[in-house]
Amino acid sequence: MASPEPPRITVVGSINMDVSARTPSLPAPGETVAGTDLVLGRGGKGANQAVAAARAGGRVRFVGAVGDDAFAPDLRASLRTEGVDVATLRTAPGASGVAVVTVDDAAENTIVVVAGANDALTELGADDVAAIEGADVLLLQLEIPVPTVVAAAEAARRGGTTVFLNPSPVRPVPDALLDAVDVLVVNESEHHALGDAVDRTPHVVTTLGARGARHRGPDGAVVEVPAPRVRAVDTTGAGDAFTGALAVAWRDGPEAALRRAVVGGALATTRSGIAAPTAADIDAAAGEL
Ligand code: ATP
Repeated sequence: MASPEPPRITVVGSINMDVSARTPSLPAPGETVAGTDLVLGRGGKGANQAVAAARAGGRVRFVGAVGDDAFAPDLRASLRTEGVDVATLRTAPGASGVAVVTVDDAAENTIVVVAGANDALTELGADDVAAIEGADVLLLQLEIPVPTVVAAAEAARRGGTTVFLNPSPVRPVPDALLDAVDVLVVNESEHHALGDAVDRTPHVVTTLGARGARHRGPDGAVVEVPAPRVRAVDTTGAGDAFTGALAVAWRDGPEAALRRAVVGGALATTRSGIAAPTAADIDAAAGEL
């Protein structure tokens, strides 16, 4: 049997360079401390979910903005290397989005996020709208200006594209946005922060960490899917790996998609850093776990 066409997924979202330094203890205000390892990581929830969806088997396009600084070529290349189409990744004057992270020996951290070019994504052009309308799924988060997120969701609605929203970081979500969303993907704290507003969307998928995930459908029926038991070493990016795999598998129905997404999320916790698994990794693990 010929394999089906990969689902077309468009992400409108953030892309950042994460600059992390380790230090024995975090500096107090006014203090300078010596750092050890400096690590550059490619991040931003939009880019992370785009990479996760591409690895999970989607044909992914990214709508976003990098700056005209030294990080921009690397950020652009990092998406392209993952097979993400970057024709709609624009260059804005100034800095790319950057997260400056310090981590101490007790694993306490501080993070300063400079939105940079992500804040310049204030309008969608005709190519962006075409990328949204031509997709099966639009994946959105809240690390770019909210009016752009709303405009993207409304364009998807007109094009018959299924709209996923991961409302992270937690911030007020306008009703107009929730009303244009098909699938809301929240962790427990985001679910709590939104309260009854989650009921405005037909599908709510709540991730439950090591306990797995829950789906509430338009008829109110709830299905809970346990997470496979794994030896978790780093849960960073588990939610993004989960969401990418969920978007790719959504056409198989919510329960089948959740079963695949919990494997994607679990595998991501077994590796350090942003470590979304490939479709082959998920296939292999789904048979074993
Ligand atoms: P993060 O912000 O750390 O990326 P999150 O808070 O958005 O994650 P979680 O609910 O912690 O989301 O995790 C997302 C999914 O990843 C879970 O639904 C589950 O499938 C998987 N997962 C997370 N932690 C574990 C774990 N310890 N063992 C197995 N699976 C896990």
